[in-house]
Amino acid sequence: MSTAVTRESVRELAREQAADPTTVREVIHYAFNADPVSGGFAFLRDEVLLICGVGGGRTWTVDPGDDDARRDAIDAFWRVAQRHSLRKRLAALEPEVRVAVAGLVAGVRSVRNLDAGALRDDEAGVDPWVADAHLAYLRFHTNARTQAEAVLAVERALRDRGRSTLPIHPCPVCGYPALGDGPYARAVCEVCELLTVCEHGREVRGAPTSRFGGFVARHADDESECEATTASGAVVIGERAVMMTGVDGSVVVEVVA
Ligand SMILES: [Zn+2]
Ligand SMILES: [Zn+2]
Repeated sequence: MSTAVTRESVRELAREQAADPTTVREVIHYAFNADPVSGGFAFLRDEVLLICGVGGGRTWTVDPGDDDARRDAIDAFWRVAQRHSLRKRLAALEPEVRVAVAGLVAGVRSVRNLDAGALRDDEAGVDPWVADAHLAYLRFHTNARTQAEAVLAVERALRDRGRSTLPIHPCPVCGYPALGDGPYARAVCEVCELLTVCEHGREVRGAPTSRFGGFVARHADDESECEATTASGAVVIGERAVMMTGVDGSVVVEVVA
């Protein structure tokens, strides 16, 4: 019972259970297979789909028939396992990221407004500025509203960047934490982005035109295109700023030095 659940151990189990061992074959689900906390492995044997979680859960169902339906069954198993493993996954995050998740769930704009009594020792000691940057990410770049959604969103963002915390720097306009490093280290924060004004004195927002770059600028009041901003990217937030495509295809507003 104490042996680790691996692809080979689940294959072995399927072979042991199979009336006809030649029917054993794996159903690949890359993301589920790669999740070291709540993922696992799935095999077909006879007319049965066997799913085993690395965290210990196990289920058999009648083979749903095709690989799409099999993956749906795996997804359902995975969601339950993710809920059960939420506490473990939270604990695996850096304390400043955990505090940001708490801030999102509490609906505060800054983690400074969180009840300090509800935080663990290592969380109470975090730099609120860093935690606020992660909170801003969750508020402005994800649709997460619940703890489970926030953990999933932040895990994905960190995995994509191969880091344990997100890259941040002070917003050059207001000092609030903003996302981005390297060539995007002068990007303004999401709040200042909303205050961006075009040469007509109207608020403008940029929307990406493709995943690979380019944007169209629209006036915030009536959604009409601001052709001047689309063409030049020149905008104003107190000082002069420029609208451009960010590293992940989103639209970034950056202050011109
Ligand atoms: Zn700002
Ligand atoms: Zn305009």
